[in-house]
Formats: sequence, structure tokens, C-alpha cells
Amino acid sequence: MVIKNIAVLPGDGIGPEIMAEAIKVLDVVQKKYEVTFNFNSAPVGGAAWDKFQDHLPKETLQICQEADAILFGSVGGPVSEQHLTKWRGVEVNSLLGLRKKFGLYANLRPAKLYPALAFASPLRKDIAKKGFDILVIRELTGGIYFGQPKGREGKGEDESAYDTMIYMRKEIKKIAHVAFKTAEKRKKKVTSIDKANVLTTMVFWREVVKEVAKEYSDVEYEPMYVDNAAMQLIRNPKQFDVLLCGNMFGDILSDEAAAISGSLGMLPSASLADGTFGMYEPGGGSAPDIAGSGIANPIAQILSAAMMLKYSLAMNDAARSIEKAVEDVLNDGYRTIDIWQEGMKKVCTKEIGDLIAENI
Ligand code: NAD
Repeated sequence: MVIKNIAVLPGDGIGPEIMAEAIKVLDVVQKKYEVTFNFNSAPVGGAAWDKFQDHLPKETLQICQEADAILFGSVGGPVSEQHLTKWRGVEVNSLLGLRKKFGLYANLRPAKLYPALAFASPLRKDIAKKGFDILVIRELTGGIYFGQPKGREGKGEDESAYDTMIYMRKEIKKIAHVAFKTAEKRKKKVTSIDKANVLTTMVFWREVVKEVAKEYSDVEYEPMYVDNAAMQLIRNPKQFDVLLCGNMFGDILSDEAAAISGSLGMLPSASLADGTFGMYEPGGGSAPDIAGSGIANPIAQILSAAMMLKYSLAMNDAARSIEKAVEDVLNDGYRTIDIWQEGMKKVCTKEIGDLIAENI
């Protein structure tokens, strides 16, 4: 029997509620596919602060270090009153801390518009009806967010602030290979996003990606300026398969791709290190406005578990069975409130988790 260690970090707000449904689904998977999952839970974010006065305590890091993968919920208080002002800080400290510690350099964010959910998309009806299935691959540990020097200097009208956009050849090559290898298993197209008409860093980005593209003759390669890509996502998202982006452009375009697919509660993500280690989390945050009411949509968390099976645990069939169960439940008309419309069957967090688990 194969044994896999999974670090479970539910976090704050709706995190524990939607995590419970993902674990329910993984429990079915372990019975069906000869594998044992050791789930080791640990606090993170506000929940960890309340216990250890630390957003990312060493006890939690230890559990992550011993795991094959991390399944992460969401962070962002309030857990205790004095902590209220630190919401954003919680997110930055625990998420960036984990990315740095485990070298999670490749962020994969699928944005899929299921035909059954076309009504929930803000896109024009005729465009939404066609659906889309995009994977944004964002470089996560370099670029302008981390480039040095950055700072502020001077005073009054002469005061200025600056950041540095910098990429090394090896960083671009590494993320480009992830994009092309992933595209080989999808619709075989990589659109590389840059701003090569203005930024020297992006001229270099385009040159290096073009070189890498030559190694993947079965994958179509297309460079695109980021401003055009932002527009094309609204006008014709179906043209895209894999969108390869640096850190900043990926941050922005992955949110746009998420927005046009309807609900935050539907979108999983993966952050991968070298080898098979990765961290998997839903696209949304801790949703304090609905936490505790049992109505959150757990699908993003459940699909994050499916990504974990695919990318970290080499369990493609099991991953596909979760994805199919989600599609079946949606096609049967079951919906949490965020994706509900007249005529559909309204269900709560636990009920939709049960239905997905039963469908595996
Ligand atoms: P949010 O994503 O938590 O919520 C935005 C809106 O989407 C809310 O109306 C919420 O109810 C809804 N929503 C989100 N997930 C949902 C789900 N699964 N089902 C149904 N509805 C869902 O973003 P926010 O309100 O800007 O931030 C709230 C807190 O979350 C903040 O503390 C923020 O820092 C944190 N945050 C954490 C992460 C993370 O852990 N990765 C990401 C974003 C925000």
C-alpha cells in the first residue's frame, strides 16, 4: 500500500469549512485507489497567531517539511480583536513565507468556464456560451515583486520610489519549460505574455521563451503583449490554452481570468517547487462575510485536492475522477448560493461535498 503524507493547513474563515469537504472527497479516493493518506493538520494565519503569536509557526513548517504536498485553505482573520488590523499581513506573512521556504516558483491557476455556469460569468452572453479552459502559469518568486534595489528616497516634490524588474535567463527558462511541458498534456498552445515593446526585461523574456519553444515542436508558441492579452481575455478567451506570465503580469491576468469564470469558489491553484512538491489552495480568500454560515462553495478546495493528486502524487486517474464528479454534480443542477440561479437545486457546503464524494 502506498502511503502519502499530506500537510493540511485549513487556516481562517471559510478555510476549515471547505477543507473538511476536500478531506471527505480524498477519503473516498483513498478507499478506491489503493493509497493511504496521512493527513497532518496544522494552524496557519490568524488561527496560528492566536495559538503561537506567529502566522507561520515552526511546528507548522515542520509538518509541511515532512509532507509530500501541502493542502492549504485560506488565511485572513479576524481570529482575535487585536489581530483585526493585520488581515493583509496574515496573508503576506504566511503565504509568502511558505513560497519562499519551499521554493514554490511556478503558480498554476486554471480558469475554466463550465457551460453549465455560463450565466455566472460577466462576459457577453455569446462569448460566455462558448466556455473556455485556460491555465495561467505565473512565475512566483522573481520579477519586479522581489527585484533589488527597491525603495524610496528624497523629499517633497523630489521624493521618488522605485522597484526593479529583473529576470535571469535560468529563471525564464525554468518557468517556460513548465509551461510547454504542461501544454503538451493539454491543447498544445503556449501564449507568452510580455511587454517587449517597452521593457528591456520583457525583450529578454521574449527571446528566452522563443528559444525554449524550439524544443517543443508539438506545441504552438505565440508571444502577446500584456495589454492585448487583457483585452483578448474579454473578447475571445477560448483562443487561449496556457498563458505563460512573469510574476506581475501573471498576478493581474490570473485574477482577470478568475473574474470572467464566474465565482471565486470554483477556482483551484497549485504552487510548485522543483521535483513533485507543491502547495494547493483555492483562489479565494477566507471570505469573512460568509464564514460560519455553511454556505461557502467548497469546489475550489476540492479541485485543489485534485491538482495535488495530479502534480504531486502522480494519481492522474484519481484527479480526473474528482474533476468528473464535480462536473456531474453541476450538470445535475446542484449549486451553492454563489453559483445558484432560478430553477437550480440550492445546497449548502456539506451537501455539495457529499454529492461530489458520492459521485467518485
Ligand atoms: P475573499 O476571496 O475572501 O472574498 C471575496 C468575495 O468572494 C466575498 O464576497 C466572499 O464571500 C466570496 N467568496 C470567496 N470564496 C468563496 C467561496 N469559496 N464560496 C463562496 N463565496 C466565496 O477576498 P477578500 O474579501 O478580499 O478578503 C478576505 C480575507 O481573505 C482578507 O483577510 C484577505 O487578506 C484574505 N485573502 C486570503 C487569500 C489566501 O488565503 N490565499 C486570498 C485572498 C484574500
